[in-house]
Amino acid sequence: MIDLEKLNKNRVLIKDVFDNKKKEVEIVGWVHNTRNLSKVKFLVLRDISGIVQVTGVDGKTDDKIFKMMDKISRESVVYVKGCVKDSKQAPGGKEINPDAMIVISEAEKLPIDVSDHSKTELPKRLDYRFLDLHRQRTQAIFKIQSTIGSAFKDYFINRGFIDMHPPSLIGSSSEGGTDLFKAKYFEQEAYLAQSPQLYKQMVACAMEKIVTITPVWRAEKHNTIRHLNECRQMDIEMAFANAMVVMKEMEGAVKYIVGEVLKKNKEDLDLLEVKLKVPKAKYMTFAEAVKLLKENKIHVEKDDLTPEAEKKLDELFPDTIVFVYDWPMSGKPFYIMPKDGKVDAKISEGFDAIYRGIEISSGGQRVHIPDLLIKRLKAKGLNPKDFKSYTDSFRFGAPPHSGWSIGIERFTQVLLKLLNIREAVLFPRDRDRLTP
Ligand code: ATP
Ligand code: MG
Repeated sequence: MIDLEKLNKNRVLIKDVFDNKKKEVEIVGWVHNTRNLSKVKFLVLRDISGIVQVTGVDGKTDDKIFKMMDKISRESVVYVKGCVKDSKQAPGGKEINPDAMIVISEAEKLPIDVSDHSKTELPKRLDYRFLDLHRQRTQAIFKIQSTIGSAFKDYFINRGFIDMHPPSLIGSSSEGGTDLFKAKYFEQEAYLAQSPQLYKQMVACAMEKIVTITPVWRAEKHNTIRHLNECRQMDIEMAFANAMVVMKEMEGAVKYIVGEVLKKNKEDLDLLEVKLKVPKAKYMTFAEAVKLLKENKIHVEKDDLTPEAEKKLDELFPDTIVFVYDWPMSGKPFYIMPKDGKVDAKISEGFDAIYRGIEISSGGQRVHIPDLLIKRLKAKGLNPKDFKSYTDSFRFGAPPHSGWSIGIERFTQVLLKLLNIREAVLFPRDRDRLTP
């Protein structure tokens, strides 16, 4: 067994081999490739930071090491100790001549193609997602997603927002939809939260500005390239704010997130061949969007934007977050504030944000007045009794407030122009998939 404490002290990351002042290094990684040119053998080793070539020369390299070099199967985990040498032919201009080599864990015959341009189809790759995660392309996606999530949190924490953790098990439907997963909860029935909506409102009504990244579950039966049955939302909720205030917050956050990705994930973006710019922002009312789309011969629904309409907006305003506000009341949930607080308003304080041709977010001002909320519930054909505890939570000093939600997988998909949202989630939960 290899001494892991010693290894942790002495090991260098592969990317640091290239500017290492030390001649002798210890590295560990996965076998990326091997090549045997009879007198010379190459073993390309990969860790999370990069790849490096280990070169063995017949007669120079220790005989035992030279013999084993091309026998180690791809993706086996290997320890190498050796000297760093400049080399014109080696990728990155350096190579390692091994003095010690230990196979820490040998890989069996691989069930999927793990090369960068894998020929294995997505469903099969997802069956072996743990192995698909060995691929640098897959790693690049999740390195970028890590930046997205942490930049999102940083941005709002730095602006005085409080990080909250809403419950995942809830006693009744939060939005009145029917797309809920049921669970047994002792003698009662519970549901998996389809949104943190009501909880973040309750917290914002007391603690003013909150931020969260939290999982949600939607029992939608459809199978699309932009929906999952389990996804994670990046949410804010803010007291004393209307839709315009929180749209501006989103504009700032998305620009910051994209800026951070450009700064921290340059190599990952290059690997994925993604061209990215910090976006501009464009604000228009739903009515203005409809007019513009009709002029461009795009069909629009009376209270929603079709995928074609979203694509057109991207064509008309490239590298731009398009905020469409003053959304028709009929297209928004019961908790969205009617324009100017008027019960029968046709227009709401709700909005959608469209970026790179897809809806990334919905949001708006919420109804914080219990009587108005009850009327809105009835107007949507919902029973106010089912929402009594929610409605009552606004009876003891609830400020006006607004918020929104961006799905982190959806955002990753959009940013990287991935064809399928399943590429942007480690272990997708969809209609047919519950493992791994
Ligand atoms: P859509 O119109 O795309 O079906 P929605 O209006 O039902 O989405 P919201 O309830 O507004 O979605 O959720 C907020 C955000 O969460 C969406 O803008 C999107 O980024 C993301 N999202 C929503 N549903 C899903 C899903 N099933 N899978 C992945 N992400 C989702
Ligand atoms: Mg929406």
